[in-house]
Amino acid sequence: MSERKKYFLRKIPKVDEVLLSEEIKSLLSRYPRFLVVEAIQKIINSYRSFILSPETDQNLLKETNINLSAEAVEKNILSLFKPNLKRVINASGVILHTNLGRAPLSRDSLSHLIEVSSSYSNLEFDLERGVRGKRHEHLQPILTRLTGAESALIVNNNAAAVLLVLNTLAAGKEVVISRGELIEIGGSFRIPEVMRASGAKLVEVGTTNKTYLEDYCRAKNENTALLLKVHTSNYRIQGFTAEVSLAELVRYGKENELPVMYDIGSGCFLDLSLYSLQKEPTVKDAIDTGVDIVTFSGDKLLGGPQAGIIVGKKDYILKMEKNPLLRALRVDKLTLSALEATLIAYLDEKGIKDKLPVMKILTQPLDKIRRKAKRIHNFIKNELSSFLKSEVKKENSQVGGGALPLQELPTWVVALTPLTISLNQFEEKLRKSDPPIIGRISNGKIILDPRTIDDREINLLLNCLREIYYA
Ligand SMILES: *Cc1c(COP(=O)(O)O)cnc(C)c1O
Repeated sequence: MSERKKYFLRKIPKVDEVLLSEEIKSLLSRYPRFLVVEAIQKIINSYRSFILSPETDQNLLKETNINLSAEAVEKNILSLFKPNLKRVINASGVILHTNLGRAPLSRDSLSHLIEVSSSYSNLEFDLERGVRGKRHEHLQPILTRLTGAESALIVNNNAAAVLLVLNTLAAGKEVVISRGELIEIGGSFRIPEVMRASGAKLVEVGTTNKTYLEDYCRAKNENTALLLKVHTSNYRIQGFTAEVSLAELVRYGKENELPVMYDIGSGCFLDLSLYSLQKEPTVKDAIDTGVDIVTFSGDKLLGGPQAGIIVGKKDYILKMEKNPLLRALRVDKLTLSALEATLIAYLDEKGIKDKLPVMKILTQPLDKIRRKAKRIHNFIKNELSSFLKSEVKKENSQVGGGALPLQELPTWVVALTPLTISLNQFEEKLRKSDPPIIGRISNGKIILDPRTIDDREINLLLNCLREIYYA
């Protein structure tokens, strides 16, 4: 290290000295001492790294002073009060983006959540009889009405739902599943691993592309407790294939007195073909086959909060209610209230596109998306044309969240080429703006898909773009 650098290092004040200055004393009267100390320490550390960096030369050292003014320290303190969890603008066009929180909640969900959660509630109190009640019973009537099932139970997410069913019905026993359905969902939900955690033993039958009823028959023995079918929600096996339909498996289960469980993944309640989309199996279709148990997520196509919903035969649900594991997987009033309002929206399908953001985004008219794309494009042409090249192009959005994997959703995107900084620098600036803008990189361009950008977010996005270049 050069003598010069050592000299600058020696000149850095000690924290204790800084704390004695009159300016900083006034901060101590307004903030807890440990926060003030931490902020000063942080500024000192970052100045020290700056001195030590090989890129910092003599000239730069002379020009740059450590800034320990009250203003600088306070700015640092205030940053600690800013929450880490924040809204982002989803410009990726992926509607159910697990990394971005999946389904945005509806207005009704939020207002019900606020009302129930900001005061006391009847979460576990039976107002009819004045005795202790059960938290999941509130949603049983609506879930059975919407799905045709006998009973229902709600847990933390669909992975927890699968875990609870397997542990209750098959711990220490065998569960038969087709090799073509041994799925992995992003974020390490793997059927074989959940199965192991539940204490059930996995028996794989058939091959990746073909499984016949005889394969299930051959696997069955006195240790078999359950037949499991999993909806291959995020991929399709196409071509030379054979699978046993849910109805066939249910018939076979009945003949052999074996319960059948169906993990349907995304909890779709609507016939999506009525909305010009590919049909996803609905929960009601599944229940109509006579299947014993169906599990699905609350925050995928259903459009509600993160939750795992189990519907099916009363006797099995009762067993799950008695499983001590349920205590560890149970949901709180925030989830239940947001989910209840989401389910109520399904009672009248007419208004569903306006009520549930996921359905609104999924069925958004193409010309509306195009208008949003044009607005962004025109703004850039008028105000930022020396920094960004912009084109409006036709592309496809993705549903994501393990639903409709083959669905092509035509959309209009804005494709941006930064002219003064690199693509990666521009991507980082978007990601670090306030609020962050998450687009995607494709063919050397940043793609912003307005399908997942709400009307009310467009101005916010334009402001962020302006700030990137003019702040
Ligand atoms: C998404 C999915 C899961 C996991 O659900 P989470 O709610 O994310 O826990 C399980 N099974 C299938 C088929 C899925 O699509």
